[in-house]
Amino acid sequence: MTNTLLILPGDGIGPEVMAEVRKVIDWFGAKRGIAFDVSEDLVGGSAYDTHGTPLTDATMAKAQEVDAVLLGAVGGPKYDKLDFSVKPERGLLRLRKEMDLYANLRPAQCFDALADFSSLKKDVVAGLDIMIVRELTSGIYFGEPRGIIKEGNERVGINTQRYTESEIARVARSAFELAKLRGNKVCSMEKANVMESGVLWRDVVQEIHDAEYPEVELSHMYADAGAMQLTRWPKQFDVIVTDNLFGDLLSDLAAMLTGSLGMLPSASLGAPMANGRPKALYEPVHGSAPDIAGQGKANPIACILSFAMALRYSFGQGDEAARLEAAVEKVLADGLRTADLMGPDGGTPVSTQGMGDAIVAALDAAL
Ligand code: NAD
Repeated sequence: MTNTLLILPGDGIGPEVMAEVRKVIDWFGAKRGIAFDVSEDLVGGSAYDTHGTPLTDATMAKAQEVDAVLLGAVGGPKYDKLDFSVKPERGLLRLRKEMDLYANLRPAQCFDALADFSSLKKDVVAGLDIMIVRELTSGIYFGEPRGIIKEGNERVGINTQRYTESEIARVARSAFELAKLRGNKVCSMEKANVMESGVLWRDVVQEIHDAEYPEVELSHMYADAGAMQLTRWPKQFDVIVTDNLFGDLLSDLAAMLTGSLGMLPSASLGAPMANGRPKALYEPVHGSAPDIAGQGKANPIACILSFAMALRYSFGQGDEAARLEAAVEKVLADGLRTADLMGPDGGTPVSTQGMGDAIVAALDAAL
């Protein structure tokens, strides 16, 4: 099977970090015989500058055809005054919506060398490796009715939490499938004590478990208690599955347990395509970082680890993904640090390019 990949570097530091990912992709082609049919296109502000839209129909169509889309970042002050309909972020939102990417995967993984970066005690986070699966296309951010209405003399803000059984079932399946590739444990979080949508969420997750994944360990937790447990002892979790709103909060909380924004990858997955691979968009969690763009200061690891997720979840190359993650671990253990990772313990400062080169060298050395 060919491996097709659409690369959308975007704006700001997006193209800089993506250039380092290209080195890694080339390495896998040359040294591991894993060839990728790579195409590259514009998204966000760079697409607006060229085409007057943050995502052309042609790019959208291409994204629907490929096995995986890898995106850098979009946005920047230059575009802040644009009309909402053509803002850079609209390009990203259109990709997520039209590809129907309902499962957002946010790993929180703490590399030992960076454990001091966490705001929590070292023994609480060292070796942490959990995955939050957030439902991304439904729930309170999309439910109707919504709006601000007038009631008597005052305004009322309205949003509606709404989930169908099938929306819950498909994201639950994503979580159980992931757990099978990891620690075989899922914790589902909602507020079934106060929300009917939470009661249905809990029921459907349990039904899918009992009917299809009885071998996976399942637990349920109220989302507020989950937030407490995530900061108390996060290593108790493997995969957490939760709705759009709680997932938004809990995934940011969990991610920051591990330190820098420059280290955090993500994946958004949809339904399987004809070849069995899921629709997929991989991207670092960070934005376009206009404050450091063009200075060789950006940490490329979040984007490189997003490609590792693509290897694992789109291309069926879990061992090669682990190889790439081990190379990242090695350069960090060797003390190499982009500016965002420079802590009190010092380290060897490297540029964006220097970090990419070191990771490729570590891949070579481990062969
Ligand atoms: P940001 O993530 O771009 O930057 C926040 C801070 O983290 C900055 O100080 C930045 O220098 C630093 N940082 C981010 N990524 C880094 C990296 N790889 N290496 C080193 N340091 C890094 O968030 P922001 O400043 O709130 O937003 C800037 C622009 O990015 C805005 O236009 C925003 O809309 C956009 N944005 C885009 C995405 C996306 O494309 N998915 C996500 C968030 C923000």
